[in-house]
Amino acid sequence: MSDCLFCKIVKNQLPATKVFEDEHTVAFKDIHPQAPVHILVIPKEHISAIHEISSEKSGMLSHFLSTVTAVVKKNGLDAKGYRLVINSGEKAGQSVPHLHVHILSGRDLHWPPG
Ligand code: AMP
Ligand code: ZN
Repeated sequence: MSDCLFCKIVKNQLPATKVFEDEHTVAFKDIHPQAPVHILVIPKEHISAIHEISSEKSGMLSHFLSTVTAVVKKNGLDAKGYRLVINSGEKAGQSVPHLHVHILSGRDLHWPPG
């Protein structure tokens, strides 16, 4: 996806504050943080939503979630408390159509979300 914002971050065509990177995933700071800690984790492959990952690619999903938990632990969020959010579709507030997990922490997070 040549015009995808997050594909550009993967290819270093757009600047981002990366906090983790491996062969399949990248984590970087959200440009408009909604909490003192707001990190986005994305797969390098362009996938628009979590439900697009087929069961044959379950290994990719498990690697992706392992990356999320590694970023959580590396930043000490397991002790502080944190929230994971995946907005899927425009009605749910997804503005970038490349799968991403929001990791939010560092303040009281209320429920239900808006
Ligand atoms: P969502 O609304 O769930 O699709 O989340 C997209 C997130 O991407 C928002 O929280 C934006 O602030 C964030 N975002 C958009 N562009 C950038 C960028 N260039 N670098 C980092 N975060 C970004
Ligand atoms: Zn993309």
